[in-house]
Amino acid sequence: MGMFDWVDFRTLCPKCSLPLSGFQSKDGPCKLRILLPWTVSRFYTTCETCGQWVEYANGRLEDPRSEENINAEGDGFWEPAKEEA
Ligand SMILES: [Zn+2]
Repeated sequence: MGMFDWVDFRTLCPKCSLPLSGFQSKDGPCKLRILLPWTVSRFYTTCETCGQWVEYANGRLEDPRSEENINAEGDGFWEPAKEEA
């Protein structure tokens, strides 16, 4: 159905250092529930201030440049499919 769950996780943007929230994951039931970060292996958000894509996998911050390298033929940043609630 293309849904997701929210992840109750807060951190600071690695680029602009402002607070980040609104993390999402597709590892749970994908019914817009609020999950705890240690119950999912991957979650992500986009900084509303600077647009930085921030993704955590297995509790670690992913280096966005690795995504860029993997998708080198694209326009740079890999973007997830836009989700309509
Ligand atoms: Zn930012």
